[in-house]
Amino acid sequence: MRTRNVPVFIVPLASYKGLNMGLKVKCSDLERELSLEPTCQFVARGENMEELNKSLGKHAKEVHEYTDEQLQSPGIVAAVKAAVQEE
Ligand SMILES: [Zn+2]
Repeated sequence: MRTRNVPVFIVPLASYKGLNMGLKVKCSDLERELSLEPTCQFVARGENMEELNKSLGKHAKEVHEYTDEQLQSPGIVAAVKAAVQEE
């Protein structure tokens, strides 16, 4: 029996994003894309993009009166991805 030597580092680094690190996105960083009030101090946090989107989506709907449809538009999804930071 041969053991296959599969390199573990073959997985692109981006796939690890959010596994061990927290992610955050500042609401104020999205003001241009979302036309939000630049004074909003909210910071959405999550252990992964799913949690982060949940947190941000809830906030955007409650505070900025966004709809699910608006939040799922490609422009906003891209803007959120671009504004995400690891912490
Ligand atoms: Zn906000």
